[in-house]
Amino acid sequence: MTVTATPVPILSDNYAWRLVDSETGAVAIVDPADAKAIIAALDAAGGRLDLILLTHHHADHIAGVEEVRARFGAPVVGAAADAHRLPKLDQAVKEGDTVTLGKARAQVIDTPGHTRGQINFFFPDGAVLLSGDTLFSLGCGRIIEGTPPEMYASLRKLAALPGDTLVCCGHEYTESNARFALHVDPDNAALKTRVAEARAQRAAGRPTVPSRLSDELAANPFLLAPDEASFAARRAAKDSF
Ligand code: ZN
Ligand code: FE
Repeated sequence: MTVTATPVPILSDNYAWRLVDSETGAVAIVDPADAKAIIAALDAAGGRLDLILLTHHHADHIAGVEEVRARFGAPVVGAAADAHRLPKLDQAVKEGDTVTLGKARAQVIDTPGHTRGQINFFFPDGAVLLSGDTLFSLGCGRIIEGTPPEMYASLRKLAALPGDTLVCCGHEYTESNARFALHVDPDNAALKTRVAEARAQRAAGRPTVPSRLSDELAANPFLLAPDEASFAARRAAKDSF
């Protein structure tokens, strides 16, 4: 029994994620912001949708929800804390809650910082993390609504997941993140390896994600920050980089 995750490129640089529970064939879509593209992708893959998962309220993550819901009738799961500014939720969740896809279960992780009500989903079967705009490959989300201590604590929660976790994030930002990462940590061999891999993936027209959490722990400057103060300094530096 396992969950597989496939990126669906939408808008200019967003990824929605199509998840499948291998045991039952149940399908979820994460952050379906472009209804036309999402419906086409789901139809091409068999026309099934059982669940819609939302990481946060930004339009580039939720804009297509009502149209996708209307087409498939799938229930919508999102953060209770942001229910007032998300599409109507069929299941409003918070830290520690469980979401079911077929026979697979995801843990809900509260990760405030980019937005107050940001949540991530972790499926232990398949080690799939939907990291939204909290953790990117070689980067992290901008702190728009929360504070640096909140974002730091959110990233430490994700850093504690198993090393083989697949980081399925909300944007293709890896190459631009790489420029800042190399500026901060120019002698990091794991970072150089990851950057070369990402550049090759982009040159071949492929997504750079999902990435492995163990690779992020070795290369991502925001996970490598030794303490909260240095994390805050790096995040501020990247904002004006
Ligand atoms: Zn966002
Ligand atoms: Fe976003």
